[in-house]
Amino acid sequence: MEFSLPKVLQILSTEVAGYAVPIVDLIGVQTKDPYKVLVATILSARTKDETTAKAAAKLFREAPDLAGLAALNEERIAKLIFPVGFYKNKAGFLARLPGVLASEFNNQIPDGVEALTRLPGVGRKTANLVVAVAFRKPAICVDTHVHRIMNIWGYVETKTPLETEMALRKKLPPEYWLTINSTLVAFGQGTCKPVAPHCDRCVIAQYCPRIGVKPRKVLRQAQHERNVQSVRQSSVRPEPVEGPFLGAHQKTTEDAMRKFISWNVNGLRAVEKKGFVEIIAGLNADLVALQEIKALPEQLPESIKNIPGYTAYWFSAQKKGYAGVATYSKERPLSVLYGIDHKDHDYEGRVLTLEFGDFFFINAYFPNSQHGLLRMDYKLQFNNDLLAFAQNLATQKSVVICGDFNVAHREIDLTNPKQNEKNPGYAPEERAWMDQFIAAGFVDTFRMFNQEPGQYTWWSYRFNARERNIGWRIDYFCVDEKSKKRVAEAGILHDIMGSDHCPILLGFR
Ligand code: SF4
Repeated sequence: MEFSLPKVLQILSTEVAGYAVPIVDLIGVQTKDPYKVLVATILSARTKDETTAKAAAKLFREAPDLAGLAALNEERIAKLIFPVGFYKNKAGFLARLPGVLASEFNNQIPDGVEALTRLPGVGRKTANLVVAVAFRKPAICVDTHVHRIMNIWGYVETKTPLETEMALRKKLPPEYWLTINSTLVAFGQGTCKPVAPHCDRCVIAQYCPRIGVKPRKVLRQAQHERNVQSVRQSSVRPEPVEGPFLGAHQKTTEDAMRKFISWNVNGLRAVEKKGFVEIIAGLNADLVALQEIKALPEQLPESIKNIPGYTAYWFSAQKKGYAGVATYSKERPLSVLYGIDHKDHDYEGRVLTLEFGDFFFINAYFPNSQHGLLRMDYKLQFNNDLLAFAQNLATQKSVVICGDFNVAHREIDLTNPKQNEKNPGYAPEERAWMDQFIAAGFVDTFRMFNQEPGQYTWWSYRFNARERNIGWRIDYFCVDEKSKKRVAEAGILHDIMGSDHCPILLGFR
């Protein structure tokens, strides 16, 4: 059936009435206070709504208005708003807010997008949301859900939220401007999720062209019954797996999915200041692989060494402040392999492997071939030695290998392939090795689900590259060929900030 925006939005307005109301809208409706809407919007960035609601309530008890906020110092604000994402940065923004409003806006919250973006911590998205929610004036807030879903529907064809905002300003009928954000945020959180959307129970499934979508897999009843039967048979096994995966054999296949995250954090001490612990807690993964930690465990604070629910395994480089990998696990592994037993590589802290009952989990930080490709020979040697290591493990059980491979494999995996043909990360030798790796029987799981361009995991800190989505896909989750059927989903968590890389995800059964 043909896609019709009015029809679809009419259906969704009824549908999301039963969903949780996004917190900023709720505060707008309840308080009608631009100050509270502005503060709640700043708090809500990269933060779950429940966390924002609690933090806003605590802050507003002590700072019910601008004068109250001006009376608090940055440290006190940080305490009150913890654990919202990037709470230290946000405390700094909020501490500076009363001063800027006094000096530039006569202590009034401005009601225009351009003026609002002059306030600390306020970007276009926040400004549009404040204009729409607090002042009920025409503005289109483009949250990541709006950007994503509008592209899934083919209503716009854009690469960044900013492009989406500009396209919608030209195309979206004005009667939808104020409500589009809250409708699609609620719908994106509840049904059309960023990874594995629930198309099977979507009220607009018949109208949706599902551009670039890989929906979640749903068990058919017969399959479900077969699984339950096999569970009953397998539950008499004498040696269940220990840990949080304990009893996985008692769940349906879908429930038993394990969630893995890989993230090049580009310095664990730096990302700690940007809300790392809260991000990891929010992701709630079974395994989290980090690369480029650039620290020895003894240099790290307790909050990082002991994240509740996890045991951390460290393999730092001997050279201080360089490379290094770490893996957090909810389950106790059967064994841990530090390095690949090779003197030329292991002092650089590049590979850490955890062994579980039915798979190996390899966390790898591949070398950079460096400016002028000066380290290409070393890199290729490392790559070949790691491939041999992984192939050997794959003869025993499933292998998941993840991390920063420091190479974009194909043209589709970077914005400017032509300009980078001889540059580190896209040089012919590096791409050829990646071909060899795939030919050796390893599968790039992301491309099992997504063949779209513009899907990146690394952006330069320069030239606003991330905002303009000028990037490279150089982080991968791969599995050995025979374990391909165990892959349930794979994704890129573009919205998680804190490093020049974003985390990637694998759902594995
Ligand atoms: S059918 Fe799927 S992709 Fe389309 S809107 Fe519904 S959940 Fe999203």
